[in-house]
Amino acid sequence: MIYLDYSATTPVNAEVLEAYQQVCKNYSGNPNSLHQLGIEANALMTKALNQTATLLNVDPTEIIYTSGATEANNLALKGVANYYKARGNHIITTKLEHASVQEPLKYLQKQGFKISYVKLLKNGLVDLNHLRSLITKETILVSICYVDSEIGLKQPITKIGELLTAYPQVIFHVDGTQAVGKIEIDLSQVALFSFSAHKFFGLKGIGGLIKKRTFALEPLLHGGKSNTIYRAGTPALPLIVSLAKALRLSLEGMVKDWENIRVLNQKLIKGLTKIEGITINHNQNCIPHIINISLNEVQPATLIRSLSEDKIYIATKSACTNPNLLSEPLLAFGRTEKEAATSIRISIAGITTVTEIEQFLKYFKKRYQELNFKKRET
Ligand code: PMP
Repeated sequence: MIYLDYSATTPVNAEVLEAYQQVCKNYSGNPNSLHQLGIEANALMTKALNQTATLLNVDPTEIIYTSGATEANNLALKGVANYYKARGNHIITTKLEHASVQEPLKYLQKQGFKISYVKLLKNGLVDLNHLRSLITKETILVSICYVDSEIGLKQPITKIGELLTAYPQVIFHVDGTQAVGKIEIDLSQVALFSFSAHKFFGLKGIGGLIKKRTFALEPLLHGGKSNTIYRAGTPALPLIVSLAKALRLSLEGMVKDWENIRVLNQKLIKGLTKIEGITINHNQNCIPHIINISLNEVQPATLIRSLSEDKIYIATKSACTNPNLLSEPLLAFGRTEKEAATSIRISIAGITTVTEIEQFLKYFKKRYQELNFKKRET
């Protein structure tokens, strides 16, 4: 098997799974219970919380555990919109955002909020002048991903945050789901930050929202106090501990993995460039972990299915023939409709090997050329 879909999800690190199982076995209490089992569970939760906070360089009180980034994004966007709707009804975002940002914003639009999309420069980065020009007295929120999941463009988050300090009524949310564990993150200018453990070799079902203390948020879930007042429910202690472990291990491995990933990225791009008809949607602003290409004459779903027969796993976004499913990130990045209809994503990790990339290129070329040939014949 050759797995090149690490941006969709990662396998669980064995040590992370072991930590999860140990907590399940040995800590049965509710961290909010007053008896001994509760005290022990609470002490462990505090330890994991402090460790996570240190790793992310935030205060422990700023971490809200969620079920993942979808919930974190929903909580951030709806939470700010609902709390500050009397102040204004304007939100700014990009066309690069994941569905878990786009869909809550569409929902808010139906509730009367106005959504503006900031343009990208030719190099794929947010146009800061356009962003500035979009801000009005009604603007309450700006939501921009650190790294988008389709193309892998890394946005200048600190610069954007600095620009927004001139507008103190604007809250800056960043979806960091594709950034944590892959690149250095700087949260100094960010008010809200979403992340998810299963993207960095943690378990599915746990993530978080970092919420700085300078503003309020309307909770999505109402109920008993959890580790914060912003998300009710008994704290999922085994998952909370597993998240701290996954985060520590992935941050420790990040620098070591970087060079391997960079070399594999270059090898992959070099190999793909040699194949006729492929457009490489990758530039120096993309993180090396994500490589997006367009197939132009070949349907992505067909290619992905045939590669899957070879036990090679990569990703597509669109069902292609339906023009409503063109990749919005690729269109915003200046690609043609055909390119936006035929994009696929290859995503690599520190555990990817040179042999895997070589094998991938061999099978990819074979399958792609077969499909291209069939297409020409019909
Ligand atoms: N944001 C981005 C950028 C993502 O890539 C993903 C997952 N594909 C999400 C949010 C949603 O994360 P989760 O699966 O934890 O809900």
